[in-house]
Amino acid sequence: MNAEEFNRLLSRFEDASVALHTEQTRSAQDRWEVACDAIREDRSRLLRLIRDLLDSDDCWFDHHGGCQAHGYLSLEPGEQCPHAEAKALLDAEGVAR
Ligand SMILES: [Zn+2]
Repeated sequence: MNAEEFNRLLSRFEDASVALHTEQTRSAQDRWEVACDAIREDRSRLLRLIRDLLDSDDCWFDHHGGCQAHGYLSLEPGEQCPHAEAKALLDAEGVAR
């Protein structure tokens, strides 16, 4: 799913949410659930893509706080290496690495 397709999906979800709120019918509920399922499916696809692109090596920080392992050398204090952030996200989501 590319960005344009996702934006259409998001728009469909928003319309379904409004319809569910205003119509309160079984049909509106069904459209909302279909949109939710499509969003969950795309989210799962993106998490798998992150997993597949992730470097399995641990971060290795220099004395300036930059991650030498992944080339993020200009991290600001409190900022994480994107690889560490992605690993934490996958762990929190229960995606096996
Ligand atoms: Zn790193």
